[in-house]
Parts: sequence; structure tokens; C-alpha cells
Amino acid sequence: MSISNTANELPIKRIAIVGSTGSIGRQALNVIRRHPDSYAVEVLTANTNAELLIEQALEFQPNTVVIADESKYLQVQEALAPHDIKVFAGEESLISVMEMSTIDTVLTAVVGFAGLKPTLRAIEYGKTIALANKETMVVAGEIVTRSAMQKNVPILPVDSEHSAIFQSIVGEWHNPIEKILLTASGGPFFGKDRDFLKTVTIADALHHPNWSMGKKITVDSATLMNKGLEVIEAKWLFDVRPEQIEVVVHPQSVVHSMVQFCDGSIKAQLGLPNMELPIQYALSFPKREADNARRLSFADYPTLTFAKPDTDTFTCLALAYKAIEKGGNMPCIMNAANEVAVAAFLQEKIAFLDIPDTIATMMEKSRFVAKPSLDDLLQTDTETRQLTIDYLNNK
Ligand code: NAD
Ligand code: MG
Repeated sequence: MSISNTANELPIKRIAIVGSTGSIGRQALNVIRRHPDSYAVEVLTANTNAELLIEQALEFQPNTVVIADESKYLQVQEALAPHDIKVFAGEESLISVMEMSTIDTVLTAVVGFAGLKPTLRAIEYGKTIALANKETMVVAGEIVTRSAMQKNVPILPVDSEHSAIFQSIVGEWHNPIEKILLTASGGPFFGKDRDFLKTVTIADALHHPNWSMGKKITVDSATLMNKGLEVIEAKWLFDVRPEQIEVVVHPQSVVHSMVQFCDGSIKAQLGLPNMELPIQYALSFPKREADNARRLSFADYPTLTFAKPDTDTFTCLALAYKAIEKGGNMPCIMNAANEVAVAAFLQEKIAFLDIPDTIATMMEKSRFVAKPSLDDLLQTDTETRQLTIDYLNNK
């Protein structure tokens, strides 16, 4: 059954947001709040933030909510009992709700490896994917894209750079991409050297110049691992080789990325740094939805600059190229080591420069599998996390 939107005769899209309490999840709900004739919230999920999940559920009245942390089940269940909202808890519920026949689009706004299983289940059940959770593509890009192709499921990028690339190739389906120019803000430590990075604090790393995001991706932006993850994400989303992806540092974050075609022509997508636009485009595609978000004025940006990334200082970007060139389970090893190292940095257990050093060590030490199955990748993730924890404990 599809609910009709009488204003423009298009069916209302019913959205499941996996990770609705995070930075992307909250911004997605802002988009939906502004466009009630286009979208309805079908499912909301959170890891531990029961208070915000309850608040969101009371406002958007979804069919179902899931709290991954089972100890919070009663709190959510009691708060929502007077309403017609189903409440489930635990990881398995979070994955199985993706099967609901009333969901049209799943926005994957979870952070980290935890996004992989719900995304794969959603694809299996034919849901359109609005992909924010880049780690899913990093660890299992081959399996995810193959499965989406088999099920004829579109994967629409939410990451601003990948949205820009996607917007630049709409209407160019028969023209192969020669090169992707993936822009990077450079993060809070752009232009700094390794000596400076030795003593930076958590607060320094979390102080991103242009974007307000979850903590993990903000630290990834400071190490440039975020750009490394995005190179791998772009390889799978746009079916290009790593050497066709050039990272360009552009500190103003106005040009969100570019595509070069076989005649040398370059197309770009520009805008203010605001994630609500790429989120909305992934939800509304192929249509553009009218929105009165603040417009870019070039007078406010008289100088747009571009530079090569400093991969000698920010080695994470080089590690990501190495991981994707090696292939197999290497990107999964890199991702697991990075997730553990970033968490340790955020708990003040290790210094900023220990993050790249830990990842490089784990890429040397972990067991390489050339053609991993999904089970191999799940095992790689578990093993590498443990290996990284042991390594950091013995440091
Ligand atoms: P966040 O930390 O702000 O939010 C993460 C969300 O996932 C929360 O709702 C949390 O409850 C949920 N979650 C976390 N761990 C979970 C687990 N183990 N099981 C179930 N749920 C869990 O993160 P974010 O900044 O919104 O980023 C989300 C994803 O989007 C990341 O992959 C990130 O790289 C990507 N992304 C974010 C931005 C941004 O502007 N924030 C931009 C581009 C891409
Ligand atoms: Mg990005």
C-alpha cells in the first residue's frame, strides 16, 4: 500500500533512519520536518540515547523504534506505551526491522562497522539505501555493491563529496568518469607538521573548521583518515580505480567534489557546507525538493584555494590507498584498527600520532585474506579489534 501525497501525486516516501540520534540522523529529521508532504518516518533507531529517541518518536510518530542498548528497553517502552509505536531492543532487532514491508528508504546514519549488517539486510529486502555510513562501503564494498546490483537496489550517497560526484554525473550515464577530484577541507590541522601534531589535544582535534559532526568522523577528518575512507567509498560507489581518485585540499569546503570526463571537461557541485542538502538530495532523488536553506554568495568567498594533500604528515590517507590497492580484507583491517585507535584517543589513552602508527602496525600484523566472504570480514573485524586492544594495552 502506498500513501498518496495529493499535492503532487507522488507517494510519500517512508523512511527508516538507522542512527537517528546522531549528527546525520538529527539533520535528516530536520529535512523531514520541513517536508511533511514528501516523507513519513517509519522507523527510528539509536544505540544508547533513549531520551532523544523518545523525544523524536513522540514528534514523528514512527511505526517502530529500536534501541540497541537492551538495558534502555523499559525506559523507551514505558515512555511510548500510550502511543501506537512498537518498541524493540538489541542488535538483532535493529537488523530485522529492516525487513518491514512499509519501509521505502533506509538512511544508514550509524557510525562504524555496526552499519554493515542492517545495510545488507535492507538491501536484501529491496530497500533504497541513502548511505551516510561510509564504513560499510570501506569494509565490504564489493559484497554490498554486488548485492545491491543483484537486488536492483539504488545506493544513493549522503556523504557531501559523494553526493557532489553523483550530482555531477546525473545525465552523464554513457560518459565514463576519467577522474574524480575528491575535495578535503584539510581538517583543523591543515598546514601543520608532525612536531605540531605530537602534542594536539582531543579538544584541538574536535575543533573542525567547517563542519559540526559526530566525534569519530571529526577525529577522522583531523587525521585525514576520513578522506581515506572516502576514497574507498568512491571507488565502490562509482566503480573507478583508486588511481582515478585525486584528493584535493580545499579549505573553504564550498566545492564539494568534481568529476573530470574523457574530453577534459570538469563538472563540480558547489554549496555552503551544510549536510542537510546532500541528505535531502538522497531522499528526494531523482527530484530536487524546493528548500529555503541559506544560499551561497560568492562575494563571501572571494578566494577559493586548492592544494595537494600532505601525505607525509597525514599518513592515514596514504594507508587508505595502500589498503584499497592491496584489496581483500585489508580495508576491513584498516577500519577496525582505526575505530579502536580513535576510541582510545577520545578516552585519552593514546596520543594523536599513535592513531596512524597503530593502524599501520595492524595492517602489517593482521591476517590477510585475499577473497573474503562476509563471514571472513566479520571475523577480521573481531580479530583486528582484539589485536589492536592488546597492542595498545602493551604499548
Ligand atoms: P554520530 O556519532 O553523531 O551518530 C551515530 C548514530 O549511530 C547515533 O544515532 C548512535 O546512536 C548510532 N550508533 C552508534 N553506534 C551504534 C551501534 N553499535 N549500534 C547501533 N547504533 C549505533 O555519527 P555521525 O556524525 O552522524 O555519522 C554517522 C555516519 O555518517 C558515519 O559513518 C559518518 O562517517 C557518516 N557521515 C557523517 C557526516 C556528518 O556530518 N556527521 C558527514 C558525512 C558522513
Ligand atoms: Mg565527507
